[in-house]
Amino acid sequence: MATAPASQTPIYRFAPSPNGELHLGHAFSAILTHELACRSGGRFLLRIEDIDAQRASAEFIDAIKHDLAWLGLKWQEPVRRQSEHFGTYRAALAKLEKLGLLYPCFATRKEISKAIEGHDTPRHDPDGAPVYPGIYKNAPDEEINARRAGGEQFALRLDMEKAMNLLKENGKWPIVFSEISTDGRRECIEANPERWGDVVIARKDTPTSYHLSVVVDDAIQKITHVTRGRDLMASTEIHRLLQVFLDLPVPIYHHHRLISGLDGKKLSKSTGSKSLRALREEGVTPDEIRKVLGF
Ligand code: GLU
Repeated sequence: MATAPASQTPIYRFAPSPNGELHLGHAFSAILTHELACRSGGRFLLRIEDIDAQRASAEFIDAIKHDLAWLGLKWQEPVRRQSEHFGTYRAALAKLEKLGLLYPCFATRKEISKAIEGHDTPRHDPDGAPVYPGIYKNAPDEEINARRAGGEQFALRLDMEKAMNLLKENGKWPIVFSEISTDGRRECIEANPERWGDVVIARKDTPTSYHLSVVVDDAIQKITHVTRGRDLMASTEIHRLLQVFLDLPVPIYHHHRLISGLDGKKLSKSTGSKSLRALREEGVTPDEIRKVLGF
């Protein structure tokens, strides 16, 4: 596995999606990442994950920068915006397509639910969603070509079985990643991406997905350390798979605890879900935020 050489300057990133206002959970992630970067003499980058044109907005991007600056965080320019790099993600898709790992999927949510209804015990992925039941996986070329020619929108899904077979045939199995725990121990974790099933790699509405853009950008930005919430730990299994097929370097990971209710602390329980803007307007200071988050 190609991990960052010890001599390399550590590069960390905070990568919010501008689909809403930042709250305390984001503040924890951003401050922690910033501290780790500063403590190691590394760099701290900000990346705006705005592939979702329906939900992302310029106001939220401005608000994110405002909140981070208010918390006292400094990031290196330029800020990478994913919506400006669809061509790069298309090139990565083409590489996966060339390996025969993707297939077009025209299924609607309704079709998927209907197909799952017929299963006695549908499998669920680590996020709790039913594993894709394989509609269109083996659709005849004529049908696919006709639908494409008719302008029907489609997603591109990863053929997980093929991907696993290819890894095994090429002696690249098992795949692992390095996880640094909160107490600083480094663990080698074996990824089990099969449990995700045929995940979407390019969505119907945009020529990429969270999984694809995140691995491409981490490589382009030369990120050595990915610090993010524990809720994304299982996604790292898909990321590792994509890194192998796209021949990308592998950062070291730290999946931190999630911030939920903060009862018993100085700020009230409901604070956990309030936006940083709302807290600021109530008179809460950045120092109080740091304190309540344990910094
Ligand atoms: N954009 C993702 C989010 O806001 C985080 C992605 C990551 O850190 O890998 O949840």
